[in-house]
Amino acid sequence: MYATTTAPITRQAVAAALAEARRKAADSRRWLNAVNKASVELETQGWSFDGSTLVVSSRTTAGRRYTVTAAGCTCAAAGAGRACWHRAAYKLLLNAAALAAQSARKAAAQQAVDELFA
Ligand SMILES: [Zn+2]
Repeated sequence: MYATTTAPITRQAVAAALAEARRKAADSRRWLNAVNKASVELETQGWSFDGSTLVVSSRTTAGRRYTVTAAGCTCAAAGAGRACWHRAAYKLLLNAAALAAQSARKAAAQQAVDELFA
């Protein structure tokens, strides 16, 4: 069996998730803006993601943090039903984690084959 531990999210996985998100959000200007803002803010803001919960620092209010889960985001925009970059960032990280895990599985499978035929 292959290891099923969580693979670290790599920059390549984030880039791949970002490209996919931009394609999928292409028809929604608000979500496309949110995706683009998320890609910038993830580089500059403090955040933590454990695979199911994202905690991000507010861009505008020092010391304020928002929590994002599959159920939604705690910010005012999300509360008002609007697009927010926090949820876009959450989805990006979720997809990046899945892509990173997929890459790790492929690498493990290749290593097993390499060892078998070494
Ligand atoms: Zn939000």
